[in-house]
Amino acid sequence: MPDPQRLLDELAAQVSACRRCELGGLRKNAVPGEGGARAKVMFIGEAPGADEDEQGRPFVGRAGVLLRELIAHVGMDQSEYFIGNVLKCRPPGNRDPEPLEIEACRPWLYAQLAVIKPLVVVTLGRFSMSLLISPKLQISKARGQVFPVDGQHFLPMYHPAAILRNPRLRDVLIADFQKLALLVRELDL
Ligand code: URA
Repeated sequence: MPDPQRLLDELAAQVSACRRCELGGLRKNAVPGEGGARAKVMFIGEAPGADEDEQGRPFVGRAGVLLRELIAHVGMDQSEYFIGNVLKCRPPGNRDPEPLEIEACRPWLYAQLAVIKPLVVVTLGRFSMSLLISPKLQISKARGQVFPVDGQHFLPMYHPAAILRNPRLRDVLIADFQKLALLVRELDL
């Protein structure tokens, strides 16, 4: 069996050379994602922003600070989670991902999921929820609910950037993180 960390590293190298869509020609750095190859939880956001493009790391801007605070709050160790995105390259001006870009980038995310095989996939915001769970869901209704798909558990949450725009949603996101911690404990017995 190939070492999962090596497979993840190889995928990251391939992502960094990817030209499947025009974003590959616009990036400073690709952002393949980071975290443990044996992570129990994968957090999947939308796409890198300016800070992420600069550093080649996911969720390092303001939304990332909030995300990492919440992860620490539920006591998750670095090896226990992986943070990634639907798109691995920054859309110009942080516009929404285009359907063709999502389609072009999708194999990378699916390959990461296949290597890591997490117990729980947390989708952050509507793009990852739509891609990985169902395009028919509405985030305000679906968040905090567990969706079993092909033996894996998907838990949609608001994107942390939505909480920065609307701080009244903060308690909802905290409650969903507590739900995540309980779910991981239950599945990991
Ligand atoms: N927002 C995202 O969806 N992903 C990042 O990596 C950063 C901000």
